[in-house]
Amino acid sequence: MAPNRQIAQRTCVACRKVKAKRELLRLVRTPEGNIEIDTTGKKAGRGAYLCRELECWKTGLKGDRLERALRCTISLDKREQLAQQAEERLRGNG
Ligand SMILES: [Zn+2]
Repeated sequence: MAPNRQIAQRTCVACRKVKAKRELLRLVRTPEGNIEIDTTGKKAGRGAYLCRELECWKTGLKGDRLERALRCTISLDKREQLAQQAEERLRGNG
Protein backbone atom coordinates (compact mmCIF):
# COMPACT_ATOMS: atom_id res chain seq x y z
CA MET A 1 0.00 0.00 0.00
CA ALA A 2 1.28 3.45 -0.85
CA PRO A 3 1.93 5.35 2.37
CA ASN A 4 1.48 8.76 0.79
CA ARG A 5 -2.12 8.37 -0.25
CA GLN A 6 -4.16 11.41 0.55
CA ILE A 7 -6.07 10.91 3.76
CA ALA A 8 -9.77 11.57 3.48
CA GLN A 9 -10.84 14.15 6.02
CA ARG A 10 -14.25 15.00 7.35
CA THR A 11 -15.70 17.53 9.74
CA CYS A 12 -17.42 16.53 12.96
CA VAL A 13 -20.88 18.09 12.95
CA ALA A 14 -20.68 18.72 16.70
CA CYS A 15 -17.26 20.27 17.39
CA ARG A 16 -16.51 21.20 13.75
CA LYS A 17 -13.01 19.76 13.97
CA VAL A 18 -11.58 18.30 10.80
CA LYS A 19 -10.23 14.82 11.29
CA ALA A 20 -9.18 11.80 9.30
CA LYS A 21 -12.26 9.90 8.26
CA ARG A 22 -11.27 6.82 10.22
CA GLU A 23 -11.15 8.83 13.43
CA LEU A 24 -14.80 9.66 13.04
CA LEU A 25 -17.99 7.64 13.15
CA ARG A 26 -20.34 7.99 10.20
CA LEU A 27 -24.05 8.37 10.41
CA VAL A 28 -26.01 7.67 7.29
CA ARG A 29 -29.52 8.40 6.14
CA THR A 30 -30.36 5.39 4.05
CA PRO A 31 -32.44 5.65 0.87
CA GLU A 32 -35.30 4.21 2.96
CA GLY A 33 -35.11 7.21 5.26
CA ASN A 34 -33.65 5.36 8.22
CA ILE A 35 -30.74 6.81 10.16
CA GLU A 36 -28.05 4.48 11.35
CA ILE A 37 -24.44 4.34 12.42
CA ASP A 38 -22.40 3.22 9.47
CA THR A 39 -19.49 1.21 10.81
CA THR A 40 -18.17 0.38 7.36
CA GLY A 41 -18.26 3.98 6.14
CA LYS A 42 -19.50 2.70 2.82
CA LYS A 43 -23.26 2.61 3.08
CA ALA A 44 -25.20 4.43 0.44
CA GLY A 45 -26.99 7.56 1.49
CA ARG A 46 -26.35 10.99 2.86
CA GLY A 47 -23.74 10.91 5.60
CA ALA A 48 -22.63 12.97 8.56
CA TYR A 49 -19.62 12.48 10.79
CA LEU A 50 -19.05 12.70 14.51
CA CYS A 51 -15.91 12.16 16.57
CA ARG A 52 -15.51 8.89 18.41
CA GLU A 53 -16.23 10.79 21.59
CA LEU A 54 -19.42 10.68 23.56
CA GLU A 55 -19.37 14.43 24.09
CA CYS A 56 -19.67 15.00 20.37
CA TRP A 57 -22.51 12.52 20.08
CA LYS A 58 -24.40 14.22 22.88
CA THR A 59 -23.86 17.59 21.27
CA GLY A 60 -24.57 16.29 17.80
CA LEU A 61 -27.83 14.64 18.80
CA LYS A 62 -29.04 17.81 20.46
CA GLY A 63 -30.64 20.55 18.42
CA ASP A 64 -30.73 20.46 14.67
CA ARG A 65 -27.10 19.96 13.67
CA LEU A 66 -27.57 16.42 12.49
CA GLU A 67 -30.92 17.14 10.94
CA ARG A 68 -29.29 19.84 8.86
CA ALA A 69 -26.36 17.67 7.93
CA LEU A 70 -28.62 14.80 6.92
CA ARG A 71 -31.43 17.00 5.65
CA CYS A 72 -34.20 15.22 7.49
CA THR A 73 -35.94 15.29 10.83
CA ILE A 74 -34.84 12.93 13.58
CA SER A 75 -37.36 11.85 16.19
CA LEU A 76 -36.56 11.84 19.89
CA ASP A 77 -36.80 8.06 19.95
CA LYS A 78 -34.32 7.83 17.13
CA ARG A 79 -31.92 10.20 18.86
CA GLU A 80 -32.00 8.13 22.02
CA GLN A 81 -31.48 4.98 20.03
CA LEU A 82 -28.50 6.46 18.20
CA ALA A 83 -26.99 7.79 21.43
CA GLN A 84 -27.21 4.32 22.92
CA GLN A 85 -25.70 2.65 19.88
CA ALA A 86 -22.88 5.18 19.82
CA GLU A 87 -22.17 4.67 23.48
CA GLU A 88 -21.93 0.92 23.06
CA ARG A 89 -19.67 1.33 20.09
CA LEU A 90 -17.43 3.87 21.74
CA ARG A 91 -17.08 1.76 24.84
CA GLY A 92 -16.24 -1.20 22.66
CA ASN A 93 -13.36 0.72 21.13
CA GLY A 94 -11.93 1.38 24.57
ZN1 LIG B 1 -16.33 16.24 17.40
